[in-house]
Amino acid sequence: MIKVSHLVKNYGSFCAVDDVSFEVAKGEVVGFLGPNGAGKSTTMNVITGFLSSTSGTVTIGDIDILDDPVNAKKLIGYLPEQPPLYGDMTVNEYLNFAYDLKDCRQYDREKHLDEICRVVKISDYRNRQIKFLSKGYKQRVGIAQALVGNPPLIIFDEPTIGLDPKQIIEIRNLIRTLGREHTVILSTHILQEVQAVCDRIIIINRGKVVADEMTENIARVVENARRFNVKICGPQREVLSMLRNDIPGVAYAEVLAARDGDAYTYMVESEVGTDIRKKLFSTLAARGWPMIGLEALGMSIEDIFIAVVDKTDENEDSRFRTKKKTKSIEARRSSAEKEMAAGMVERAASRETPDEPEEEQTGKYYDDHTIKNDTIAEALGESGEKKDKGGDE
Ligand code: ADP
Ligand code: MG
Repeated sequence: MIKVSHLVKNYGSFCAVDDVSFEVAKGEVVGFLGPNGAGKSTTMNVITGFLSSTSGTVTIGDIDILDDPVNAKKLIGYLPEQPPLYGDMTVNEYLNFAYDLKDCRQYDREKHLDEICRVVKISDYRNRQIKFLSKGYKQRVGIAQALVGNPPLIIFDEPTIGLDPKQIIEIRNLIRTLGREHTVILSTHILQEVQAVCDRIIIINRGKVVADEMTENIARVVENARRFNVKICGPQREVLSMLRNDIPGVAYAEVLAARDGDAYTYMVESEVGTDIRKKLFSTLAARGWPMIGLEALGMSIEDIFIAVVDKTDENEDSRFRTKKKTKSIEARRSSAEKEMAAGMVERAASRETPDEPEEEQTGKYYDDHTIKNDTIAEALGESGEKKDKGGDE
């Protein structure tokens, strides 16, 4: 359904997304998990065509998002981190607006919007102004907007951020329901969220994919020491000494407090990549100390996440680097888009100070929408001069 290949996005000399590749098959629910600033939103903005990439390709279905953005975007329903809501509109007005924007004539307007409101559970609020809705309901309206046009691919950026626990559960259930008929990609920095709703987890840290596994196999990504609680009958000190000294591959052993008759429980940790269980069993049998319990201690998703993120943090000194060339992408832009962009740049350039040299842009905030906003402001009759004067007051 979606193929992302060697995606790079630089903001000036800062590399926010660094050679990210992954594929999502039809019907999958994939969670994009990563700490704040990892590059999740940037990746989502690129795959939905909101931002252009520095290099790399994104295809939705069979359509390259740069070659045919209009048709590629028709396949995507997107809920950005800040839902694009207009507070003064009623829910109804807003959804009709989305219907018109997305040109959904193939769907009967009333039926289509009724169905979406039913799924998202906002039918009772359709005549309310959006600014008077609670955060949870605003989020639902944002989701409803993404569903207009019934796109096969749904992309949600931090859909539960800022919601209360009850709303979080409701939105998660909703995402699960949507997952039955849609391909879903959602981003989150909440570990339980991916575990609760996703078939697959892609962990991203510092702009890089550091793990990509089915949810049930995610523990595999960490080649970690394994821990066991072992219950052994026998003299405590001798057993402990044997565990520490006579079994190759034991990295650590200690007695846990619990005592059960003549048995003690020991926590034993093996070195990475060794399975000590067979040797442990045979050694204990040879000594005549029965093993009456062996419990492998699993890793929680928190342990995994911390292990993966720590590991990549160690390996990476900085994401600042020389800006990569954007020529290949420019060359691929459709000519119409180029003309439009050129027009915007010209108009903007006629009153803006020239761009700073690339090297000096490090650390600055790059607003990819600057040109667009200026153009809109211009269309609304708000001149650049006026804005400058405003600053002097
Ligand atoms: P996430 O969504 O995972 O929290 P983002 O994709 O929003 O991360 O941001 C990734 C990194 O890129 C962050 O360090 C962020 O500060 C930086 N960044 C995001 N947008 C811009 C921008 N327009 N200009 C400069 N840096 C940006
Ligand atoms: Mg984000």
